[in-house]
Order: sequence, then C-alpha cells, then structure tokens
Amino acid sequence: DPCCEAPLPVLGGDVTVPLVTGGEVTYAALDYAASAPALQRVWDDVAAYAPYYGSVHRGAGYLSQLSTDLFENSRATVAAFLDCREGDQVVFTRSTTDSLNLLAAALPAGCEVFVFETEHHASLLPWRDARVTYLDAPRTPDEAVRTLERALADRDPSPSSRLRSSGGGPNGPALVCVTGASNVTGELWPVRELAAVAHAHGARIVLDAAQLAPHHPVSVRELDADWVAFSGHKLYAPFGSGVLAGRSDWLREAEPYLAGGGASRKVTRRPREAGGGVDVEWHDTAARHEAGSPNVIGVYAIASACKALTEAGFESLVARERRLIAAVREGLAEVPAVRVLSLFGDDAPRVGVISFVVDGWNSSHFAAALSAEYGIGVRDGLFCAHPLVRTLLGSDADEPGECGAPEAAPGEKSLNAIRVSFGAGTPDEHVERFVRAVK
Ligand code: PMP
Repeated sequence: DPCCEAPLPVLGGDVTVPLVTGGEVTYAALDYAASAPALQRVWDDVAAYAPYYGSVHRGAGYLSQLSTDLFENSRATVAAFLDCREGDQVVFTRSTTDSLNLLAAALPAGCEVFVFETEHHASLLPWRDARVTYLDAPRTPDEAVRTLERALADRDPSPSSRLRSSGGGPNGPALVCVTGASNVTGELWPVRELAAVAHAHGARIVLDAAQLAPHHPVSVRELDADWVAFSGHKLYAPFGSGVLAGRSDWLREAEPYLAGGGASRKVTRRPREAGGGVDVEWHDTAARHEAGSPNVIGVYAIASACKALTEAGFESLVARERRLIAAVREGLAEVPAVRVLSLFGDDAPRVGVISFVVDGWNSSHFAAALSAEYGIGVRDGLFCAHPLVRTLLGSDADEPGECGAPEAAPGEKSLNAIRVSFGAGTPDEHVERFVRAVK
C-alpha cells in the first residue's frame, strides 16, 4: 500500500535548526503527543477560507451566512468522524481540558465520578465538585475492567439496578472517565469493556480521546461511550479548538458552561414588582455551552483534519505507525541502559507514544542533548500524569514539578522520563535519527 509508506505532508517538514556541534539539520518533531504539526491540507483549507470568514450566528451578510454554514457543517463533519448516534451533540470547546471541565460542570446533582489514578490531569482533576473514587493503577487491561467492576458493584449492590439507565439508577448518577490511549505509555485502554461495565451498573462513561483520536478511528457508537473529548492541536489542526461530543440530556439540563450571548435564546426583563433583573431561556442545543463568538477558524481546521484523516484512511495510517513503533521499540531494546515505561506490558496494543528512562542519565539532560546535538524535539518530565509516571518510575518523590529537571545520580531512580511520540506526518528518517541518537 503506497499510502502506508508515505507520511502525510505537514507544516514544518523542512524547518532547519542549529546544532551545538555546528551546522544545522531539519527539525525532527517527535513530540506529537504534546502537539502534532498541522497537516498541510488543513493549513491550505484554512488559508482558502480565511478571506471569507465572518461572524457566526450573528450576521445577515453573505460572509456571515457562509461562515455559519461552514461552522455548522463542521459540527456535522466531527459527528461523522466520531460516528455519533442520532441525537448526540457536538460542542466546540477550546481543548480536551476544556471539554472535560464542561462535562464536570454539567454533572447532575449527586453524581459520583470514578477515575483511574493513572489518568492525565485533564481527566483526573476536573471533578472537584463531585464525590470522586480514584481507582488503583491496573497492571493489565483485564485488571482495569475488574477494578471498575468492583468499585461500581460496591456502590451498587442491587441486581435490579443493573439496568442500562440514563446514568441514574437507585444510587444516583455516576460517571466513569477513562483515557483511550495513554499520553505516557501509548497503551490502549479497554474502553469498550469499561463502557459495558459502567452501563451494566447504571453509570455513564466519558472517553478522553486526546491521544486516541489522532491515531485510531473512534466510534462513539461502537465503543458505546456516552461522551468523547479531544483536542484539535493533537489531531493535526492548530491550537485553540476542541470537542465534547455525546449524549445531549445532561448537557441540555445543565447550567450553561459559559453564560452570555449565543447561549441564550431569550432574555426578558423581570417586572419591577417581581424584584427586577432578567429571566433567561437558554438554548438546549450545543449553543447552550458555546456562549461568545466562537473560534470559527479553529473549528473549521478541526473539521478539515477529520476529513483529511478519513480520506487518508486509518487502516494505512495505523499500519504505517505500527512500523514506526516497532522501529523505535526494537531500537531502544538494543540499548541496555534504556528502560521503556509500560503499565500493561510489552504486548499491549499501543499508539506512537513511548516513554523511557536511561540509566545514569538525567532525563531532562538527555532530552536537551537530543535537541542540541541531533535536532530532535521530544519531551521530558512527568507529562501531566504525575501519579502514573511516579508509579512507573517506582518513585514516590514529591518533587519535581512538571518542568523540573532533578538530578538523579547514576544508579539512582529517575525522577522524570523522556517521551518520544509521532504520527501520520512522521518520516522514517526522524525515527531512524532518534534511534541512532539514543544509541
Ligand atoms: N488527555 C490526554 C490523554 C492528553 O494527552 C492531553 C494533552 N497532553 C490532554 C488530555 C489535555 O489536552 P489539552 O492540553 O489539549 O487540553
């Protein structure tokens, strides 16, 4: 398959950077898990549209009408990309973090939340106002399913409540939040099985697909996820736009995430004798949570990326990425000082996100050397998943913070890790250079 052999064209493919050793080299962007380069196709689509953009849902002029159409068509494109069900809503947000905070703000009263402690902070932390049960790090996907089953069964002893409910049930509503692919290990989580367990106990499930959607097709319908969240900037679109898609009832019944124009259908003055002030009728569509003038370019870019990935075909993208993953893992396996971090073990299916430590090296210095000496951009740190990385490193140290560069003496446990990540735009040469550099 020729498509399987060629990376998709991305911006920045011929950017050169200086090396401390002299000369310069083309930049090898191997930090897709943080932000992927934009597809050239997305950039071209945005450039073609930019001269025509106008206010969305707020203007009578031709360009406003055009922009409103494109904005709403983008919603339909994203719904198709995610294989949403009839009646699902696609809400445009700023990012995955924003999407999950929106859902957290929309939880019904008394909702309990179940989340693995291994989650990215964006999935771990937004549930501040709910009762949260943090689930222990599982060491296999099956253990993850069993752990959730146990936790929900503890809450839900009555067999009669084992109904597919609307997220309610005798013990009140509950939500499970789980990541599709880890931003640390790249490992896939058993989303379908977790969704089945959640639903069997009358709970709902939201999928953090920030790392899954750029690498794998995501079908809300097949996974039976109630909601899914992802970010444009990891899906080959520029920054500033994200998606929360899924069931409309909790979203429709919640207070608007942002209050303001666009979210309100009707605002009326309350009679002075009734105390004055205003009464508001909020929209019950996605607009309810999209107050203010939206990021029309960002939304258009997300839709363009969804189309580009669909047209390229996930089958060949996945096949090509598998080849790159094998090259990196085999290369790292040849270096005895390297330890690859894994929760589920070597055979777990994964996306192109691999974290490791190098015995005798401070991870931050190692990552800095990859940049300065080889022109390779990776990431070092705890990757906004502090509990997971500390579990994998076997280090319970309180320090460092996200950007810390702690000194680990040779032979001591590393306090942070190095992450290499890649995807549809990565040329083989970047991966080969990386393996050579590590060796
Ligand atoms: N979830 C996961 C698994 C992620 O990897 C990230 C980004 N690193 C996020 C959520 C948050 O994404 P964003 O920064 O775009 O909100």
